[in-house]
Amino acid sequence: MARLLLIEDDPTIRTPLVRALKERGHAVASVATAMEGVQTALTERPDLVVLDLGLPDLDGRELLRMLRAVSQVPVIVATARDDDAEIVRVLDAGADDYLVKPFTAAQLDARVRAVLRRGASAPADPTITVGELIIDPAARTVRLGGRSIELTPREFDLLHHLATKAGQVVTKRELLTEVWQIPYGGADKTVDVHLSWLRRKLGESATEPRYLHTVRGVGVRLGE
Ligand code: CA
Repeated sequence: MARLLLIEDDPTIRTPLVRALKERGHAVASVATAMEGVQTALTERPDLVVLDLGLPDLDGRELLRMLRAVSQVPVIVATARDDDAEIVRVLDAGADDYLVKPFTAAQLDARVRAVLRRGASAPADPTITVGELIIDPAARTVRLGGRSIELTPREFDLLHHLATKAGQVVTKRELLTEVWQIPYGGADKTVDVHLSWLRRKLGESATEPRYLHTVRGVGVRLGE
C-alpha cells in the first residue's frame, strides 16, 4: 500500500482512477489543479505523485520542475502524447516513469509498485565488509586493506553478488543468471575468466585464495 497523490483535472479520468487505486489498497488524495498539487505534495508528503501534464492553470512540465525543486517524491507522468520527444522531455524534467493515456488502473498500479520498489532498494543497499574487503554498492567502490581497487562494472557486479552471500557457495549457474542476466545456457568459462581477473585484482590466485574460494564442482564462495 502506498500514499498516492493524483493531480488530474478531468473528473471522468480522476474519479474512476481514484476508486480503482483505493480498491488496490492505496490511500489516494486527488486534486484538479497544479497549484493545489504542489501544496498537497508539500503538506501531505505522499509516497508518489501521479501527474497529468495537461492541467488548466500550469503546464505539467513546469509543475514537475517546481516539484523537483522542493521534493524528491517519485513522479509518474500521465501524458496524452506518446512521441519520443515528449517522453524524453518528461523524463528529463525529472519524472521517474510515464504512462500514455488511455491507461488502466492495473497498468498504473504496476508502475507505482515498480517505481516505489526502485526507490526502496537504493537506501537498503548497505556497505558490505568481509575481512579487509569493503564493498560499497551505492558508490560502486571496493577497498581492500584501505586501498581502492579498480574493477570493471562486471567485476564489480560479480564481487557484489558474491558479497551479498558471503560465506555461502554460489553456483556458476546463479552467477550467469544474476550477474550476466543469462537465465539459461551461457558458459561456466565466462564466470571462470572473470573470477580469475577479479582474483588478480584482489592480489590472490586460485591456488592461494584469500577471499574467493572455489568449491570444486559446485561454485565459488566469498569469505575470509
Ligand atoms: Ca488534463
